[in-house]
Amino acid sequence: MADKTKIILANAEATLNLGISLGKSLHAGSVILLEGDLGAGKTTLVQGIGQGLGITESIVSPTFTIINEYTEGRLPLYHLDLYRLEPQEVAALNLETYWEGFEVTPGIVAIEWSERMPYQPDSYLSIYLTYGNEGDRLAEITPYNVGIGDWGLGTGEAGG
Ligand code: ADP
Ligand code: MG
Repeated sequence: MADKTKIILANAEATLNLGISLGKSLHAGSVILLEGDLGAGKTTLVQGIGQGLGITESIVSPTFTIINEYTEGRLPLYHLDLYRLEPQEVAALNLETYWEGFEVTPGIVAIEWSERMPYQPDSYLSIYLTYGNEGDRLAEITPYNVGIGDWGLGTGEAGG
């Protein structure tokens, strides 16, 4: 069973910084599943991932486009937002194309409202964001079939 890591994110910059550290350490094919209420900081986290990958283009929520692709960084970033979709519509998107890299260049897949997915990849990092009492946020990070050290989190040891 995966170990859960809880991190207090005092402000938006902390959320951004968590994303940046992920963006620097993630490898191609990594999937981040983001859950949390509207305004919890999911898009902010993905903006940090983009910065960590070296993307300078501004990352905006793909609520209406479903998916935005950014190819400027160290690895492609595929940013999805499933908010408007029903599970059967999500199934029709064939999301596995993105993490299996069949028809796309393998990159980072970050999915907001991932609870709308009818299935998950074999390995992924789950990040659940909630509101704190002080206007801050709490992140619960759970790796599934992936070592948390691989993600640049926790021990502070440099990734290989
Ligand atoms: P979501 O994508 O989950 O709807 P956003 O990333 O758009 O949420 O963030 C909503 C608002 O919350 C933004 O104004 C953002 O700056 C702010 N925010 C993000 N992280 C934090 C945090 N740790 N503490 C306080 N505000 C935050
Ligand atoms: Mg969002």
